[in-house]
Amino acid sequence: MSEVKAYGAADSKADLKEIKIERRVIQPRDVKIKITYCGVCHSDIHTVRNDWGGSKYPVVPGHEIIGKVLEIGNEVENIKVGDTVGVGCMVDSCRECEPCKQDLEQFCEQGMVGTYNGRDKHLGGHTFGGYSEEIVVDNYYVLRVPENLDENAVAPLLCAGITTFSPLNHWKVSKGDKVGVIGLGGLGHMGIKFAHAMGAHVVMITTSPGKAEDAKRLGADEVLISKDTDAMKKHANSFDFLLNTVPVGHDINPYLSLLKIDATMCMVGAVEPLEAVHGGSLIMGRKNVAGSLIGGIKETQEMLDFCGEHNIVSDIEMIDMHTINEAYERVVDGDVKYRFVIDMESLRN
Ligand code: NAP
Ligand code: ZN
Ligand code: ZN
Repeated sequence: MSEVKAYGAADSKADLKEIKIERRVIQPRDVKIKITYCGVCHSDIHTVRNDWGGSKYPVVPGHEIIGKVLEIGNEVENIKVGDTVGVGCMVDSCRECEPCKQDLEQFCEQGMVGTYNGRDKHLGGHTFGGYSEEIVVDNYYVLRVPENLDENAVAPLLCAGITTFSPLNHWKVSKGDKVGVIGLGGLGHMGIKFAHAMGAHVVMITTSPGKAEDAKRLGADEVLISKDTDAMKKHANSFDFLLNTVPVGHDINPYLSLLKIDATMCMVGAVEPLEAVHGGSLIMGRKNVAGSLIGGIKETQEMLDFCGEHNIVSDIEMIDMHTINEAYERVVDGDVKYRFVIDMESLRN
């Protein structure tokens, strides 16, 4: 085992501060990674603050990890020392159940092992994420990063990227479809970029009129202010697909009125009760509400390769590790364009 520096929270009310954690000795299929950058996902904040219940402390968040390979186990073939690699939201799963066999490890019947707050099969206790100097991960869950992309801006692809790419892919968004992305934050800004790259007519649906210009720069063809009821009416029954990234429970009925007959709104943000859905919002137009959780390892690699081909990365603001608590407040206030990424050198110094 080796001891490394990390940033963690002792309980749901505590700030994050420097702590020490253990990383396991590398096993034959493991990869030891020196973490260079780690994105800040809203899920990190939900977990630190125990918004969803079940958080295990100390919480060391971080599941948008980029780093350099320091060491590999003797059975690792596809990764070399010195490679730039990524780790997302999962570090293990059973690999035997139907979902695992179908490359849907995020839905593993035994429960996938989260990069943080998962059950640590090796050391006991729970897993610690990317707000740390190093991590040891089974090579199957380690992703290759396209060489043409900026490493620091790639970090958020490991969660915000795959979480938005996967539903757009699954519901086969393609050229000419009218797609709405609801909520312009870390996930939403990736949703716009992907839907645009897939050839859709993209409408950014936001509560923040001040983000309109950015939305267009990111690839939106139109901006719809969700609080403007007249504007919402003009777009009624016109969307082929909606991707809803709002991080809290809310009233989805106004959004359902935007869908065409048989169209789907996929929820990825609110992992908590939604306000009551009026049956008529679904019945009138045979509409669907669905959900999606990150994406499997194979699809995550496809997403990274797609980003390499289309030159897609996140719009990021780099921060030092010791400013993380202020950064959390800014994410909650919607004041980030559009993803914080921690320069992990700042933890080593
Ligand atoms: P974020 O950066 O905070 O962005 C969320 C955006 O939603 C905000 O910028 C805001 O955009 C909008 N919003 C916030 N509060 C709202 C409200 N009350 N009503 C309507 N819109 C509101 O968060 P994120 O990192 O993108 O994450 C979004 C959510 O997805 C989080 O809950 C996170 O835990 C979850 N998540 C899920 C998965 C998954 O696999 N399903 C993966 C990663 C994250 P506007 O100003 O444009 O309205
Ligand atoms: Zn995340
Ligand atoms: Zn499984």
